[in-house]
Amino acid sequence: MSLKRTRATPKLNRACMLCGVVQSMTEFRNDGCPNCESVLHFTDNEDMIRECTSPTFEGLVAYKGEKTSWVARWLRIENFVPGMYAVRVSGKLPEDISGDLYSQGIEYRPRDGSVRD
Ligand SMILES: [Zn+2]
Repeated sequence: MSLKRTRATPKLNRACMLCGVVQSMTEFRNDGCPNCESVLHFTDNEDMIRECTSPTFEGLVAYKGEKTSWVARWLRIENFVPGMYAVRVSGKLPEDISGDLYSQGIEYRPRDGSVRD
């Protein structure tokens, strides 16, 4: 399968490295990540947003909340809120953060294409 590089728009310009949701910096800063806010705390924390979201991502999928769709299962977003999701996100969460997630029982799987099922 070939994935076309998505040109980031001013509105949707960063992808969360943990869940892949794509939002603007302003949305991350004002509302946090709709899926990961309870563990990553992006609100009013631009450093955290820069470390845990990436401006480089490929593919954009509009997820409408169909839990059974193959796309949702393929991207492992079936339990996430409807929205725009990146197929691939460049970069990895810093180790201290992924370690922190692990201690909370959350397994971080990088979305940069380095992990295969
Ligand atoms: Zn997220």
